[in-house]
Amino acid sequence: MKEFNINSLVRKNILELQPYISFRDHNEFENPILLDVNESPYGELNRYPDSTQKKLKQKLSEIKNISADQMAIGNGSDELIDLIIKVFCEPKNDSILMMNPSFAMYGFYASINENKVVKLDLNENFKIIKEDFLNTIIGNQLKIFFLCSPNNPTGNSIDDIEFYVQNFKGIVVVDEAYIEFSGKKSCIELLEEYPNLIVLQTFSKAWGMAGARVGVAYSSKEIIKLINMVKAPYNINSLSLNKITELINIKDNINKNIENTLIEKSWLKNKFREIDCIKKVYPSDANFFLIEFENVEKVYEKLLKKEILTSKRSPQIPNCIRINVGNREENIQLINVLKSIEL
Ligand SMILES: *Cc1c(COP(=O)(O)O)cnc(C)c1O
Repeated sequence: MKEFNINSLVRKNILELQPYISFRDHNEFENPILLDVNESPYGELNRYPDSTQKKLKQKLSEIKNISADQMAIGNGSDELIDLIIKVFCEPKNDSILMMNPSFAMYGFYASINENKVVKLDLNENFKIIKEDFLNTIIGNQLKIFFLCSPNNPTGNSIDDIEFYVQNFKGIVVVDEAYIEFSGKKSCIELLEEYPNLIVLQTFSKAWGMAGARVGVAYSSKEIIKLINMVKAPYNINSLSLNKITELINIKDNINKNIENTLIEKSWLKNKFREIDCIKKVYPSDANFFLIEFENVEKVYEKLLKKEILTSKRSPQIPNCIRINVGNREENIQLINVLKSIEL
């Protein structure tokens, strides 16, 4: 196991924080009369949700084969990104490391917390050059490395993640928002060996529940305790909590979702071959494609005019648009518009 002193990385004020603990959620009662938190005794949604999200964690524990005290539930994994930065990064003094290009929210939350964002440029195939990584981590006061795999917006998985977890002195957050589409193994299984690792997953993509706003961080008990300490106690509302706990019972739901998406993905990939304005389709382990176009502005505008919304990545990624896989009807419309574009 990697040598690691977690407390030396945590902000001092967080270590000294008096956490808010919901008494009723941390004790067992049979049939309590609830007069403790000024709720209304009337109505359907009158009670505060379980601040410890016990039932959901229990379900996840069975599915993911990891103990419930190794997970923190966030209002989307977005909230978890924010919380992780809050736990470890001293405003103004500390920096985070992220890949470039990658998911913009790491830099967004770091900037709100007044942390510097150091960017590690990927090569032309959107892979990390290990030597660049090693050079970058020398001399920078880097607390967190956000490693997104499969990466958004490029779509590729990152190889040899263990190398980065091993060599980085701070916390490595592996964002697995798209892992279910990739057929690759989750880094959750590395948690036992690496106490500086946090794995993020979400219900927003493969599970098809972006509206519920629920994400999960998996890590050591120590790190999870810190994340739970800084989160708003009732960060997940009871509607989302109940619905998600109910839906993950039906495992077929997610499998069908993934299966359909993968079928549509390969259908699209075939159709892309017939389209003149496409120069390159990058390999994707996710539910979207990064595509290089001839005359990208014209393509983007034409799609927009037909009310097909896509994500233009140009000029940061020259001539590229990120397009996610839709259902068959949507994909047919996309292909028809792309076909109609004359160069
Ligand atoms: C979509 C996405 C998420 C999910 O965010 P939620 O807040 O859970 O909806 C996280 N990371 C990446 C890279 C994403 O693309």
